[in-house]
Amino acid sequence: MAILEIKDLHVQRDGKEILKGVNLKTGPGEIHAIMGPNGSGKSTLSYTILGHPKYEVTKGDILLDGQSILDLSTDERSKKGLFLAFQYPTEVSGVGYSHFLRTAYNALSKSLADEKREVFLTVREFQNYLKKNLDEVGLKHDFLSRYLNEGFSGGEKKRSEVLQMAVLQPRISILDEPDSGLDIDAVQAVAKAISAVSRKDATVIVITHYARILKFLDKLDYVHVMAQGKMIKEGPKELADELEQKGYAWLGIQDT
Ligand code: ADP
Ligand code: MG
Repeated sequence: MAILEIKDLHVQRDGKEILKGVNLKTGPGEIHAIMGPNGSGKSTLSYTILGHPKYEVTKGDILLDGQSILDLSTDERSKKGLFLAFQYPTEVSGVGYSHFLRTAYNALSKSLADEKREVFLTVREFQNYLKKNLDEVGLKHDFLSRYLNEGFSGGEKKRSEVLQMAVLQPRISILDEPDSGLDIDAVQAVAKAISAVSRKDATVIVITHYARILKFLDKLDYVHVMAQGKMIKEGPKELADELEQKGYAWLGIQDT
């Protein structure tokens, strides 16, 4: 049974059609990659799945466990276990990082009512859980006492998004270009966190322009190539390598 199913999705922003019939199906424990040149609609797809109000679905559907989520707010979608790591994370001054993570984690645990998930009642308990995750993604422990993303470097912001995924353990994680602007060590750390989350029966969708990050994943089940608002090719892991060697021009796509 698919966890997430996207059917013939058409999406407009400011009256312009950006997605023109996207289909995608993901199951538990699977890792999917969506590749495509700039401007193909990758970020639009991720925002639409999470219910960004500026993106209007004009046709098609998004199903979670067989139920349409189009009428749900972003908040309700995330409580069902959907998570998006932003391509361009925002600084949120005044929101303590550690407090933010614990509140979000506990809200998700309560909402999913999954007996395998804990609810961390004390700050100390949660800090111990966090520290393990911080080490894994390579962020220093003193980040926890800072405000969410405030003053983080570009690379730290990206690691911070991945930390949120590793900590929250969402059912469906979508990572929008988690590799952009990162050095090779950071890319490896990000890939490790993605592999760890997918082992927990969750789905991970990695959006990327380059095949580099995909090589570090423990496994990769499907590669989807997007261009001009549509999926134009699908295949196994090897498709990513082929695309890297031959370039997007191989599929008749312009990469700007
Ligand atoms: P990607 O993430 O693959 O680079 P995007 O989803 O960001 O692609 O953008 C897809 C297309 O939507 C691009 O052609 C872009 O110019 C267009 N687009 C993005 N924002 C707007 C907007 N506010 N109004 C009209 N078109 C937009
Ligand atoms: Mg994008």
